[in-house]
Amino acid sequence: MTPRHHLDPATVVSHAAGALSPEMSAIVATHLAGCVECRRAVARADGIGGALLGQQQPQATPRHSLLRAAMLERLEAAAPLPPAHAPPDAPIDPDRLPTPLQPYFGTSYRALKWRWMGPGMHFIRTVGPTGGTMLMLRIAPGKRMPVHGHQGSELTQILRGAYDDDLGHFAAGDVADLDAETEHQPVTSAGSSCICVSALDAPLRFPGWLARTLQPAFGI
Ligand SMILES: [Zn+2]
Repeated sequence: MTPRHHLDPATVVSHAAGALSPEMSAIVATHLAGCVECRRAVARADGIGGALLGQQQPQATPRHSLLRAAMLERLEAAAPLPPAHAPPDAPIDPDRLPTPLQPYFGTSYRALKWRWMGPGMHFIRTVGPTGGTMLMLRIAPGKRMPVHGHQGSELTQILRGAYDDDLGHFAAGDVADLDAETEHQPVTSAGSSCICVSALDAPLRFPGWLARTLQPAFGI
C-alpha cells in the first residue's frame, strides 16, 4: 500500500508546529503511519522549524545559529524513520482500527456502531476534546455521494476501499487534504465498501434537497 495522495505542505508545516487540532492530528498520524513520503516531509519541516527557532534566540550569534542548524540537519539525517509497516513477525489484525483513531471510534471495525444516513451510506460522528468533528463514513460500492463543499478544511484518510472524484482516484492509505474552496462528489469504486474518516473544522455543506433533509437530522 503506497499512498498516492499526500498531506498538503501547509498541513505538514502546521503539524510540525503543533498547530493542528487533536482531531486533525489524529488523521495526520493515521496517514503518517503508512506513508514514508509524508514522514520525510514532516522530518524536514521539523528540522527547518528547529533551525528557525534557533535563529530567533536573541543571544544566539549567527555562528551559533549556523551550528545549531547544522546539528539539526545532522539529527534529521540520522533520525531513524518508524517502520512503514508492522514487522513481519507481528501479525496485522485486519479488524483493528489505526491506533490514532481508537480514542474516537474504539479499537475494532466489527464493533463500530454505524448509523444509517441514506441508501448504502452509513456514518459515525464523534466530537473531539476541542469540539472538532470526526466523521467516519461507510459507503457501498459504486455509490455516488452527494456533491458537497466545506465551510472550513477537511482532512480525510481512506481506510478501506476506494473512490474517484475530480481530484483523482483515492484508495486505502491515501489522504484527501481539502480546503474550503473544494466542492466534490466522490463515487465509490466497485467491489467493496469505502470506509474513510474525516476531521472537519466546520460542518460539511451539502447543497440542495439532501442538505435540507440530512443535515438537521444528523448534525453533519
Ligand atoms: Zn503521504
